[in-house]
Amino acid sequence: MNKKQSNSSIIKKPELLAPAGDLARAKVAIDYGADAVYLGGMSFSLRSRASNFTMDDIRSACSYASSHGSRIHVTVNIIPHNEDFEGLEQYLKDLEDAGVTAIITASVSIMALAKKVAPKLEVHCSTQMSITNSTAAQLLIDENHVDRVVLSRECNMEEVREITSKCPVETEAFIHGGMCVNISGRCTLSNRMTLRDANRGGCAQSCRWQYRLMEDGSELSTPENMFTIGSKDMMAAHYIKDLMEAGVASLKIEGRMKSEYYVASIVSGYRHLIDELYDNDGDISDERMAYHLSEINKGENREVCSGCYASRAGEESIIFHEYSNSTVNHDFLGTVVSYNKDTQIAQVQVRNVITTGDHVEALMPGKMNEEFDIAQITNEEQEIIERANHPMELVTFKIPFEVNPKDILRKISSK
Ligand code: SF4
Repeated sequence: MNKKQSNSSIIKKPELLAPAGDLARAKVAIDYGADAVYLGGMSFSLRSRASNFTMDDIRSACSYASSHGSRIHVTVNIIPHNEDFEGLEQYLKDLEDAGVTAIITASVSIMALAKKVAPKLEVHCSTQMSITNSTAAQLLIDENHVDRVVLSRECNMEEVREITSKCPVETEAFIHGGMCVNISGRCTLSNRMTLRDANRGGCAQSCRWQYRLMEDGSELSTPENMFTIGSKDMMAAHYIKDLMEAGVASLKIEGRMKSEYYVASIVSGYRHLIDELYDNDGDISDERMAYHLSEINKGENREVCSGCYASRAGEESIIFHEYSNSTVNHDFLGTVVSYNKDTQIAQVQVRNVITTGDHVEALMPGKMNEEFDIAQITNEEQEIIERANHPMELVTFKIPFEVNPKDILRKISSK
């Protein structure tokens, strides 16, 4: 791992670890700068509704990652009951054969099995183990031989520093994405409300539903102002420098159920921020920080807080009165399919309504964003149209700089 001496301390360049719900999103995460991607297979993983990877997909993801200098981690993070072990040994062997770098698990039984049957797999303890102190980290290393300790999202920055400094193996910390109002999944709300086991991959996010709030028989909520107890998302961009100086080896983005657009913009935002901090030995001006915050926020469509890094979760981290579980960001207009350098005409696959006059920004892996206005849109019948409003239809328009297939276009404003 690269190390630099900053004004006050050694600064390390951490791994940027991104989520992926399917192969397309894994490739997008890698294209936009993820050093590693974590994903779930068809079984043994939480977020079972987001786990679309067959073993063939996992092999393809490993191959794509390896050819781009990236790595694949696989979540095997159910809390297993006796009946859940069937097929697990073979599954772990298959992951090792596929070229997976690490499994992420919260079960000491799975850790022991993986070390025995698939010794080339690194074992990373899941955040679900709620590691909030050095003793717990050391026990996992001594007794279960974990290769990386994923810190609890409930750690504050001082705890991250202390645990990381004492930890003989790498630590990993969350920097962005959904939070649980309960301690990272130690929750049976979903089980009780829907009979779906949150710890075996079935969380229905019942904390984010709308509820009627009663007190002494009187209703405090109204139809327009229902009650929810979901947490705001974490957005820890302000703490990246501290995490780097603390020596945290991996910075993790949450969100295996999030869209391709979300993955691209959040990964790209943190990629640029981490690189700039590293290149400048941790120094960054207020203006540059504001720029990075604005870039990261463009991909986020829920309310955010800084998690627990500054202080324990409190009132400011809860969404009390707003149902906010949307996964669609309507600023995402489409993806580039092809580009003709001579005519500067791009063919674009539509995702949300594109209108003549839209002021658009192109998000391009490894490059700074560029902006342009859409002057004229042509559909597949070669007709000039004012609006392209059919998802996945192909349209063409001029982009005055070079773009490449899979580059993402998002709206800044329209006429
Ligand atoms: S219901 Fe909410 S608090 Fe409970 S596990 Fe699911 S996301 Fe976390």
